[in-house]
Amino acid sequence: MQLYNSLTRTKDEFREREAGKVSMYTCGPTVYHFAHIGNLRTYTMEDVLEKYLRYLGKDVLRVMNITDVGHLSSDGDTGEDKMLKGARREHKTVLEIAKFYTDAFFSDCDKLHIKRPDVIEPATGCIPEFIEMIETLLKKGYAYEAGGNIYFDTSKLDKYYVFNDFREEDLEVGVRDSVEEDTNKRNKADFVLWFTKSKFEDQELKWDSPFGVGYPGWHIECSCIAGKHVGEYLDIHCGGIDNAFPHHTNEIAQSEATYGHEWCKHWFHVHHLNTNSGKMSKSKGEFLTVSLLEERGFNPLVYRFFCLQSHYRKNLVFSWENLENARTAYNKLVSRVASLLSSPDGELDAVAFEEGKRRFTDALDNDLNTSLAVTALYDVFKLDTNNKTKLALISDFERVLDLGIVDAAKAEYEANQKNEAESTPDVSDELLAYINAKIEERRAAKKNRDFATADAIRDELLAKGITLLDTREGTKFEIAK
Ligand code: AMP
Ligand code: ZN
Repeated sequence: MQLYNSLTRTKDEFREREAGKVSMYTCGPTVYHFAHIGNLRTYTMEDVLEKYLRYLGKDVLRVMNITDVGHLSSDGDTGEDKMLKGARREHKTVLEIAKFYTDAFFSDCDKLHIKRPDVIEPATGCIPEFIEMIETLLKKGYAYEAGGNIYFDTSKLDKYYVFNDFREEDLEVGVRDSVEEDTNKRNKADFVLWFTKSKFEDQELKWDSPFGVGYPGWHIECSCIAGKHVGEYLDIHCGGIDNAFPHHTNEIAQSEATYGHEWCKHWFHVHHLNTNSGKMSKSKGEFLTVSLLEERGFNPLVYRFFCLQSHYRKNLVFSWENLENARTAYNKLVSRVASLLSSPDGELDAVAFEEGKRRFTDALDNDLNTSLAVTALYDVFKLDTNNKTKLALISDFERVLDLGIVDAAKAEYEANQKNEAESTPDVSDELLAYINAKIEERRAAKKNRDFATADAIRDELLAKGITLLDTREGTKFEIAK
């Protein structure tokens, strides 16, 4: 599979270290508020990647952290602690809001068919591991103490800016004017590994450590949590594009300084979901959530479909109109699948199956092109083969796309059957056989353009109180009471 790698800035053949076994790390949410649908775009595309790797037969171990401490309002270690801010807003403790928003996040994920990672680890569960890594970095000379905090010394690395798109100036992004620069840093890009009491007087969560009572920086958590569950080598690391710098850059700095070798070969970054008014942001407080989509009558899977129709390396613009269009297309797709269910018999056509599947894998093998994979799904209807094969292909693709269309189609088909049964008058078997025979006779007459006979049959039935109705689904009848 060819997959764009932010480290090399090319599409690389994705290769795991140990054949067949992929370790995949995902930066989890900062749980001080609901996830917005932008965050969930990132998790949706990561979910498709994971499911495709599994589809290719790989055994995937996916690890995700939950950021419940240490993330300041600027990713460059300045501003307020996001969790504290959330707790104050809701007059609750940090742990209470962490629990509430972690549960809310996974409930949103369930609605969007985003599989839960194999390992989910809150940052507050790994304090001893953070301390151990920071001690190693101090011992190796990559970290220093200043003003009560421990910092990573970026000047000790041969190359710090590993993602070429980002530079020192980008550290300014998101920093509000009122925030003072941290004068303890030896170099502008240095970042905090451990904060002590010097940072916030009302810091709720703090732990004892060899560096003083305090709490960890944000970046250290992902390096440690990945190391704890995966080991010294990671196959692929994922996140939103805003995470590449400084967060992922700092993760690489810490991990490679600790291990003394390259840590993760492949970096997968999902670009942003924007609205017409710009980037969606949790900290601004006004954002779109899955609950809001539901309140407006949208099935969350329509949003998944909307995300899959565009490429993960392009910004995606959200509007209600765009979502409405996705809903119309989604519902039509479900109805087309439902119509296949009326005659699903026959033998599986292996040649057509392989042909359909090849289009699908070609799309995803080319840098996870989900919009082409959706086109491959539409192409199934055009294949010159039986419904059984078409349904088998769609179910196969759904292992990756997971749009819920097969289940929705089954429900629609069953509802149609029920409606039809309810609209068929309750008559004796004998009378039903007679009417059906007459309907068939009339159909044959019409086919032969013998309209006189067809009309005579209609009149014959009418004389018995039976009215024929020609509908799109065929001829039906009503009996006068
Ligand atoms: P956070 O909860 O803020 O730590 O973000 C969770 C994930 O969402 C991270 O991988 C971010 O990079 C990603 N993210 C943040 N904003 C957006 C956005 N507007 N569109 C897509 N992904 C985003
Ligand atoms: Zn991370």
